[in-house]
Amino acid sequence: MIISKDVLIIGGGPGGMYSSIIGALINVSSFIVESNDNLGGQPMQLYAEKDIYDYPGFLTIQPYVLTEGMKEQIKSYPDKIEVSLKTTILDIVKDGEYFLTRLSNDEIVKTRFIIIATGSGSFTPVKSDLLKEANYSNIHYVFQGEKQYKNKKIVILGGGDSALDWANYLNEKNITNDVVLVHRREEFRARQEKINKLSLNNTRTYLNFDLSKISKNNIVINGIESKEEIIIPYEFLLVQYGQEIKRLGDIDILKQIERNRINKINIDINCKTNVENIYAIGNSNDFEAKPNLIICAAAEGARAMYSIRKKIRDNF
Ligand SMILES: Cc1cc2nc3c(=O)[nH]c(=O)nc-3n(C[C@H](O)[C@H](O)[C@H](O)COP(=O)(O)OP(=O)(O)OC[C@H]3O[C@@H](n4cnc5c(N)ncnc54)[C@H](O)[C@@H]3O)c2cc1C
Repeated sequence: MIISKDVLIIGGGPGGMYSSIIGALINVSSFIVESNDNLGGQPMQLYAEKDIYDYPGFLTIQPYVLTEGMKEQIKSYPDKIEVSLKTTILDIVKDGEYFLTRLSNDEIVKTRFIIIATGSGSFTPVKSDLLKEANYSNIHYVFQGEKQYKNKKIVILGGGDSALDWANYLNEKNITNDVVLVHRREEFRARQEKINKLSLNNTRTYLNFDLSKISKNNIVINGIESKEEIIIPYEFLLVQYGQEIKRLGDIDILKQIERNRINKINIDINCKTNVENIYAIGNSNDFEAKPNLIICAAAEGARAMYSIRKKIRDNF
């Protein structure tokens, strides 16, 4: 199937999402390809529960609130924005003035423009073999908003900064005081102040325990040295074993794009790359003193979209 739009946006982080919204408002249609199973990018994948202090109009706002808001905006323009999740790009060929992009779901998207909004790459949560087989909807790899965790039994797997952040956050905000943290090593691999905070709240911790079984509402853990077996009931299992990062694959046309010594894309004032009609926004590009901030990714999306609208108007 061939889908025709004005712009293909690669990456559904804040930059990609906002580009599509501003595009819809100025009558430029777009198709977002996102490799993850959720929109939101780094804020959702890496720090969904944290407070953001530098977003205009809010003393603090949380990434999942921002993401949900932008998802609502996207949904409100069904004739202007299409989104394909869990999708990657297989190849892009030029057909006259059009890019024909073949997706991993066999669809082909035909556009005159491309915006690269891939940030630092695609983040995929690391899963153990047991977790790969456990497809229960109450196993979460990103923090999905405090409402659904209110007064629930939560088990967190992992022992790094993010796992401890989740445990501390659930306790400090009084979302629930029934939190269990399981880590397979003898010590946490997190900053000391987070470990200190953890010891002051109600989180029950099991260090040096391995996960041996998962069912929909229980996990079984075994002491690595003690061999003790413990069954822990849960209503939500939050997994934070880290993220795997993949960068844009080997696509000829994208390999022609100039990058700097840290592999970020060089752009002009309108976020155009050296390849005609391909733009790069947000954390995928770089320039002197660039602020890697959500609003900058969004602002660059607006620049790119306004430049695209001008090109469309000038040509037709
Ligand atoms: C721990 C941490 C805290 C931060 N705190 C703040 C803060 O308080 N305030 C602030 O303004 N900024 C903060 N930032 C920075 C902010 O998150 C980034 O500047 C912002 O996310 C950049 O948005 P983006 O859309 O360019 O990229 P990203 O957020 O990285 O999104 C890129 C998207 O593209 C997808 N993708 C990548 N490759 C492909 C591919 N080949 N095919 C399909 N999809 C692909 C990814 O899955 C992802 O969804 C923080 C960053 C971190 C890591």
